[in-house]
Amino acid sequence: MRHQKYYCDVHKVEMVPAGITSRKTQRYICSICTQFKEIGWGTILRSFNGYGFISQGNSDERGIFFHFSQLPPGYKPRLGDQVRYLIGFVQGKGPVATRIEVIKQTLHQQPQPRKKVQVVYQKPLY
Ligand SMILES: [Zn+2]
Repeated sequence: MRHQKYYCDVHKVEMVPAGITSRKTQRYICSICTQFKEIGWGTILRSFNGYGFISQGNSDERGIFFHFSQLPPGYKPRLGDQVRYLIGFVQGKGPVATRIEVIKQTLHQQPQPRKKVQVVYQKPLY
């Protein structure tokens, strides 16, 4: 997994890894203010119209909630896609996945390679 840097929102310094939480997320801590961030990994478990759930390790069946606004632009979530996310906390809802990054898309959903032959009449993509 490629290394990712996380910065304290207040001090703008790079946060240091500080262990795996019981949620199976990686915790990063600011060495100045001890504010922390939690980074989770998992796969898309379920996807509905505008929201869905991402696994948090094997033990959690329900997974963590995410809203489509937290996905990369143009990305459509598919079951089994591997993603990384920042844990956010929403009052009354608990932890949610935010700022989702796609690590790996499931094989059968890889975009088709671009054909070399020029097509004159092409169906619109959407
Ligand atoms: Zn700080």
